[in-house]
Amino acid sequence: MRSDKQEQDFRIGCHLSASAGYLAMAKTAVEIGANTFQFFTRNPRGGAAKPIDPKDIEAFQQFSQENNIGPILAHASYTMNLCAAENRIREFALNTLMDDLFRMEYTPGNLYNLHPGSHVQQGVEKGISLIADALNAAITKEQTTWVLLETMAGKGTEIGRSFEEIRAIMDRIEIRDRLGVCLDTCHIFDAGYDIKNNLDGVLENFDKIIGLERLKAIHINDTKNPFESHKDRHETIGNGYLGLETFRKVINHPALRHLPFYLETPNELPGYAREIALLKTERTGA
Ligand code: FE
Ligand code: FE
Ligand code: ZN
Repeated sequence: MRSDKQEQDFRIGCHLSASAGYLAMAKTAVEIGANTFQFFTRNPRGGAAKPIDPKDIEAFQQFSQENNIGPILAHASYTMNLCAAENRIREFALNTLMDDLFRMEYTPGNLYNLHPGSHVQQGVEKGISLIADALNAAITKEQTTWVLLETMAGKGTEIGRSFEEIRAIMDRIEIRDRLGVCLDTCHIFDAGYDIKNNLDGVLENFDKIIGLERLKAIHINDTKNPFESHKDRHETIGNGYLGLETFRKVINHPALRHLPFYLETPNELPGYAREIALLKTERTGA
């Protein structure tokens, strides 16, 4: 569970490979100056997840407590399309979602992020209703994991390209106690929310449409493409159209600064270590 201490300090990490297990990810996080991390629950292109190793989980929990790591963010695989047109693909997606949520309970109280889905010419309305059906089938009252819908760039037929679409999905979810949003800085700028010139306005809009209390995590990425491109190509921090000044505002904004920030920039570990160090120098206050 998230402690008060974690609410106060700067929670920053990046996407890490899950291939060596949980403890290995936590150790890597510490090595690169992070205090949290993101990982794929399984191969991002789909397929089976590695079996959970209870010893690894136990060692991870212990290490995380000692090193103040968390909350960790699991990212669903990209192939998990809850609103696919084909029955078979939708069923596969639902099974994946349920299995992911089951596995998440081995590390209680953390975050699970998913791309809502692509409606593949069925239309936004149909897509939203299929996504909600799947989430309603998977989310339980007992779960401790937060399910986060990611704000999308609007590439192809992606749903979640506007705050209204995210809200429309959420409105149809029956159990909302552990339902939230992960805001991706690259995606929303790409979708047409100008966080470079009007971060306050975008956040006011988010608050009005979704409610800032639902915002649980930030994907902190620069973008290779100009405003409203709908392309979803991440860039390293400060080297894209958003620029360092935007990230300085994002990590220090009173509505955001308590949230965990996860880098998904095109980097190997040394690059991530440099970005984390850079962002720490840009963080103001305690
Ligand atoms: Fe994502
Ligand atoms: Fe993202
Ligand atoms: Zn992206």
